[in-house]
Amino acid sequence: MDVIEVLPELHMLRFPVGQAYLWRDGDELTLIDAGAAGAGAEIVRAVAGLGLRPRDVRRIVLTHFHEDHAGGAGEFAELSGAPVFAHALDAPFARAEAVGPEPVYEDWEVPIHAAAKALLPPVPAEPVLPAEIREVADGDVLDFGGGARVVAAPGHTDGSIAVHLPARGVLFTGDAVAASPVDGQVVLGVFNLDRARAIDSLRRLAALEHEVACFGHGEPVTERASEVLRAAADGYASSPSPGAPASR
Ligand SMILES: [Zn+2]
Ligand SMILES: [Zn+2]
Repeated sequence: MDVIEVLPELHMLRFPVGQAYLWRDGDELTLIDAGAAGAGAEIVRAVAGLGLRPRDVRRIVLTHFHEDHAGGAGEFAELSGAPVFAHALDAPFARAEAVGPEPVYEDWEVPIHAAAKALLPPVPAEPVLPAEIREVADGDVLDFGGGARVVAAPGHTDGSIAVHLPARGVLFTGDAVAASPVDGQVVLGVFNLDRARAIDSLRRLAALEHEVACFGHGEPVTERASEVLRAAADGYASSPSPGAPASR
């Protein structure tokens, strides 16, 4: 895992698959996403690298239930004592009460998914699960970064969320948005449950004012990110409005 400074108060944790972020308010940290199973000890090392201890992490916010984001949450919650937050629609899968639905893969996504899966560590037979998940909903405000607003961003999964720090001009998109590993181009996240809804969520996130955008995969955008997201959203056709005539 690499630790990369995005801003003095924001570090990215880059795993073989996917990324998590540590946001710093003084001597308190918030972890956004938690890597795959096995990541707990690596996150402890990242926290130590900032001169802090696991118990200085006050909360763990999961953008969605997928293994590359939520798999390490139980381990790090146990090591830090931090509560875990997730949207009510994804929380049951992060608690492993049910198996989350598989994405509907586009043809071109199938080989990318196979490559990503090969890089992920195997899910342990008895994974460490969060003892408790506090469920959040659209519009909830969490106490970090000057007020961190939960923004529902369904489509990648039903319970996908973004986290917007309006006072700091930062947006964490989870997998609703991604940057291409090839050229850094900002695109709709891949492996979606409902691509049309995901495109609507991309538009919704693009409408939020932010200078910095942090994705689940790919390099963050650190300047004029809302303009970059708007340009990306313009590249996708709108879903047909309900009741519109199918054809003429
Ligand atoms: Zn992901
Ligand atoms: Zn995902």
